[in-house]
Amino acid sequence: MAYRNFSTTQLQEMDNAHHLHPFTDHAGLRGEGVRVVTGAEGAYIFDSEGKRILDGMAGLWCVNVGYGREELAKAAYEQMKELAYYNTFFKSTTAPAAMLAKRIADLAPTNFNQVFFGASGSESNDTSIRTVRYYWQLQGKPEKHIIISRDNAYHGSTIAATSMGGMGAMHGQLGPMLPGFRHVMCPYDFELKHKGESLEDFGIRAARAVEVAILQEGAENVAAFVGEPIQGAGGVKIPPPTYWPEIQRICKKYDILLMLDEVITAFGRTGAWFAAESMSIEADMITVAKAITSGYQPLSAVLVSDRVADVISKGGEYYHGYTYSGHPVTCAVALENIDIIEREGLIERVRDDTGPYLLERLQEVIGDHPLVGEVRGMGLLAAIEIVKDRETGERFPNEGSAAVCVRDHSIEAGMMMRAVGDTMILSPPLIWTRETIDEAAAICKVALDKAAADLLR
Ligand code: PMP
Repeated sequence: MAYRNFSTTQLQEMDNAHHLHPFTDHAGLRGEGVRVVTGAEGAYIFDSEGKRILDGMAGLWCVNVGYGREELAKAAYEQMKELAYYNTFFKSTTAPAAMLAKRIADLAPTNFNQVFFGASGSESNDTSIRTVRYYWQLQGKPEKHIIISRDNAYHGSTIAATSMGGMGAMHGQLGPMLPGFRHVMCPYDFELKHKGESLEDFGIRAARAVEVAILQEGAENVAAFVGEPIQGAGGVKIPPPTYWPEIQRICKKYDILLMLDEVITAFGRTGAWFAAESMSIEADMITVAKAITSGYQPLSAVLVSDRVADVISKGGEYYHGYTYSGHPVTCAVALENIDIIEREGLIERVRDDTGPYLLERLQEVIGDHPLVGEVRGMGLLAAIEIVKDRETGERFPNEGSAAVCVRDHSIEAGMMMRAVGDTMILSPPLIWTRETIDEAAAICKVALDKAAADLLR
């Protein structure tokens, strides 16, 4: 590769001079110097200085089968040679697109048999928004257009996905938001559960916030409720077991569609192909991306339930689609990726072994650390709350700075973790073994000890 002829400094200079990064404070980045990631194998990434880092975030919640998979490279190469691109607009399809649509329909909950492809989670959420609104138009109820979402939800960075998401900082930079979105509380029991309130009651209270919003807007104006089964980028917030059943009851009562954003959770993360399955949620729309190809190619999809698809497919031409909808190379890679997940039993392993072990091991090694307010997880998805006072849950001043301190020590000690507010996140490749988990827990402990030395001085 041509980049091998450049030094780290030269690559950093090019990057500094010309590259605008996502979700980045550029003044800070330019000052620090960017890390140049040059390679990866299995569970580890390597940088241009030869540092080997255990990837606790599977890239960005996506590299579920781990790095360096020859089979995926071959699938892309073979497909590019045979048919690098063709659209799916002109009454045409390609073998990988047709086969992947069937494969996903076979894996999905039984009421899902139709799939619409995109190239990113944001795009697919836009597709989902448009599709539920179009559904209600075709049903003769065009006024049903409002989508109820949650505080701190992340659904992507397009204008529609930003408006549907619940990130205040993003809203602040958007200017006028798109109309038709309403936000309610997220079931984040670590911060929002009242003293003395049971987890079950808290789950019901959080779900009833949706009912309150429906009644205020008028059910005749509300199209859908949207949520991530477990809020990911908002801080791996796992709802109480009472939450989703109550949401479902409310959606049914007021005839409101249930949209699930499974961009993070689909394809094994929670120990099932879909979190809808592990958490018994009956949805009308499901968006997926990321691990559909384990991040080897940019691909996303919206799974459309029979209820919605039956209406849409009788509605004449739907003026919606992307150049890369059903891109044959991305679909070929997704098919191979799904084969790997299945062949290696990664989902069963997460469900029965590594998922429970990750939580158990983190509890054991860092559960009573002075900086840790809570460790929680489901499958290979975990969160560690960083607090100043374990008893009261009081945070450090300067929201987020304590978690950034832990993160920096973690990377220094050899593991990539993410800091979201004052929550540390782990979302590793599903190939992690018990040994990898032991290594990760040990690094967490080192990082927390070093951060405690900095923060509790
Ligand atoms: N939804 C969720 C739940 C996500 O976590 C993300 C990305 N982190 C998105 C949507 C947006 O996906 P993309 O970055 O591929 O547009």
